[in-house]
Amino acid sequence: MSKKQDIIVVGAGVVGICCAASLRRDGHHVTLVDKGLPAKSTSFGNAGAFAVTEILPLSEPGILKKVPGWLLDPLGPLAIKWRYLPGLMPWLLRFLAAGRPAKVQQITQGMHALLARAETDLLTLVQTPALLSQWHKHGALTLYDSQKALDADNAKWQRKRQHGWACETLTPEALHACAPMLNGQITHAVHTPAWSFVDDPYLFSKGIAEQAFREGVSWIQSEVSGFLQKEGRVVGVRLASGSVMHADQVVVATGVWSGELAKSLGYNVPLESERGYHVTLPNAGVRLDKFLISAAGGFVILPMGNGAIRIAGTVELASKHAPETWARAKVLIGKARQLIGDFNTEGAEFWMGNRPALPDTLPVISAAPRHPNVTFAFGHGHLGLTLGATTGQLVANLMAGNPAGFDYAPYAINRF
Ligand SMILES: Cc1cc2nc3c(=O)[nH]c(=O)nc-3n(C[C@H](O)[C@H](O)[C@H](O)COP(=O)(O)OP(=O)(O)OC[C@H]3O[C@@H](n4cnc5c(N)ncnc54)[C@H](O)[C@@H]3O)c2cc1C
Repeated sequence: MSKKQDIIVVGAGVVGICCAASLRRDGHHVTLVDKGLPAKSTSFGNAGAFAVTEILPLSEPGILKKVPGWLLDPLGPLAIKWRYLPGLMPWLLRFLAAGRPAKVQQITQGMHALLARAETDLLTLVQTPALLSQWHKHGALTLYDSQKALDADNAKWQRKRQHGWACETLTPEALHACAPMLNGQITHAVHTPAWSFVDDPYLFSKGIAEQAFREGVSWIQSEVSGFLQKEGRVVGVRLASGSVMHADQVVVATGVWSGELAKSLGYNVPLESERGYHVTLPNAGVRLDKFLISAAGGFVILPMGNGAIRIAGTVELASKHAPETWARAKVLIGKARQLIGDFNTEGAEFWMGNRPALPDTLPVISAAPRHPNVTFAFGHGHLGLTLGATTGQLVANLMAGNPAGFDYAPYAINRF
């Protein structure tokens, strides 16, 4: 695709925003379309981390051993809304299959190929001082309450080291020297210096959108109800209002809602929601400069600046339409106190978001096999912020004929 094209990007989450920005930089006429406002869905309330060492599939064998124990606690790191289980079974079976050793190796390579370039792609995309000042390269600490708990994760850390990621095991003394606010029960940690985080993922993603608009991306707020086709070729999109928009190319980046749009073109993808929660404490009064990860609790603590923190995480497998389980967000406060002691909860804000999850953890970054002018970019699960810029760059390269010779096969939509 050498000539400049009219491109519609559907979905203004962090993934769609980054796709629109990269395509515009390639000189295309780009329109970003969303039923809501930029970065107001899942990209609004995530934990703000560039979790670049997360190369292993979520179904890696170590995790599976922990699942039965987790499920006994309805407010633990993982919960299933049991009513939804029959509908979820096909996804769960594929998730289990992705945990076989040969598959784990394949998926790890696919994730590493994306994550190894994430910081470079973000630096290429984000150039304004206002955005760069929100991004902190301070690393993360994964926290354990015993040597035994740390040892249980040893194979996981080894695998990351084998891929070149620094994962530094800290002695209790070193840990408390670098994170003095930690409760004495936390005795061990692994430091991953390559991690970074932003003060507020909504403001950061919105900032990238504003940069893209300044660079010439157009914006339309409307729901896309389907594709406009002519002689088997997609020539634009239909809007819920009844009007149509013509385009040479369409990018589908609608997060957890992408399954319906893909299906309308005949592509069935096992996309489910891994719902996660956060509580944001604007006046917590906690001084933190590292991103904290509770290895046992399945939650993280984001330092948001000026004493504010966000406690986020856990997985709830349920329909994206199911009502929120706010107790899962509220319980995060008590869990965080076990790590960092007391803090002020005045002004606490609770939130739930739908991580767009594919069972093998890899996202879809793929041309539509039977519709050459449609590209899919969704299914980033726990890593949409981390991989937004990379996905945008890869989508732009794919449309430009893959000048860098990147292997897109692991992310193909027809791999299932
Ligand atoms: C609790 C929690 C913590 C997380 N922490 C992190 C983290 O620290 N680091 C990280 O990298 N990731 C994290 N994630 C994951 C990350 O938030 C997601 O992967 C990411 O936001 C997905 O972005 P997206 O653009 O694909 O989807 P979304 O942000 O959901 O955007 C999709 C957009 O598509 C629009 N849309 C849908 N259907 C249509 C339609 N038919 N017409 C028009 N518009 C439509 C929606 O309105 C929405 O704006 C976390 C997620 C959760 C829930």
